[in-house]
Amino acid sequence: MKIYNFSAGPACLPKAVLRQARRELMFYGESGMSVMEMSHRSADYEEIHEKAKADLRKLLSIPDNYHVLFIQGGASMQFSMVPVNLMTEHRRAYYVKTGEFAKKALAEAKKLGGVMVPASSEDRAFAYIPELKKEMFTEPADYVHITQNNTIYGTRYTKLPDTGGLPIVTDMSSNILSEKINVSDYGLIYAGAQKNIGPAGVTVVIIREDLAGKAPENTPSMLDYGVYVKNDSMYNTPPTYGIYISGLVFSHLLKNGGIEAMQAYNEKKAALLYDYLDSSSLYKATADKKDRSIMNITFVTGDAALDKRFVAEAKTYGIVNIKGHRSVGGMRASIYNAMPVEGIKKLIEFMKDFERKA
Ligand code: PMP
Repeated sequence: MKIYNFSAGPACLPKAVLRQARRELMFYGESGMSVMEMSHRSADYEEIHEKAKADLRKLLSIPDNYHVLFIQGGASMQFSMVPVNLMTEHRRAYYVKTGEFAKKALAEAKKLGGVMVPASSEDRAFAYIPELKKEMFTEPADYVHITQNNTIYGTRYTKLPDTGGLPIVTDMSSNILSEKINVSDYGLIYAGAQKNIGPAGVTVVIIREDLAGKAPENTPSMLDYGVYVKNDSMYNTPPTYGIYISGLVFSHLLKNGGIEAMQAYNEKKAALLYDYLDSSSLYKATADKKDRSIMNITFVTGDAALDKRFVAEAKTYGIVNIKGHRSVGGMRASIYNAMPVEGIKKLIEFMKDFERKA
């Protein structure tokens, strides 16, 4: 049976990329060895590293005054690295509270400086993105942190706040490469790889050059963006195999129409599922319509026992990892770039059958 993996992350990867990795698993090019076995200082690896960076630059049209870094420690380490490096002048920052990861980011920042919360959507279980007005950002601050796509609650920003010039730092872990962005709207973008980029273990950071190298003297090297910039993300051994797979994904996207084509495909996939949800009398999408994510689609039947049955029976259709996050229950279909439209159609077919029987 064909399996469709709706996991929120680690998530499905393009089959073409996995096939290429399989072909090259034992021997990469003329090297006579696997990428996993290569020195990170070798010419072969260096080429992989530089191509991955260059392809990501092409995909997102990253301007020259931004650095691309590959860091370990997941997006969660960025929750700490961001304040360590950037909360240095005013020693405080704005954090918009839109979900569990936003809360975690905020909690880490609080250990290092002052945190101001201009808006939150906690009052309605994070089912929406609060309205952000320029008047909310008048205090001196080093940056404004947002979580662009809220993986657990299925919401996303459809427009960026006017912060009156304060740099926007965004967590794009669950939506990077899914839709067009304008990199120069941001001071810093970070994203764990395991959804739209590659395997877990790599985190991509795109940082405006004036924001790197601002860390205090006593900052541990491995937490200092300046050290990563200076050493081309090779101050120590980088996660070489993860970067290699990420590079294959970037190149695959470039060959298939880039971000624009991906966005159109993602919008089509999400519309199929939301349209069905809106027409159904059994299922209810949980996020406010205006803020719906096109990556993580959350829904419930309104009956926890029925939700449980849904998740169990879905498996018989090859639909796996559709259970909602443990903190909210219900269902969540994570439909990242690599989820084919056939997967959505299969899910809807199952949902209709289940609805008929329920
Ligand atoms: N931010 C967001 C939006 C996420 O979805 C996740 C992981 N699901 C994280 C942060 C944490 O990422 P990591 O596990 O890579 O630290």
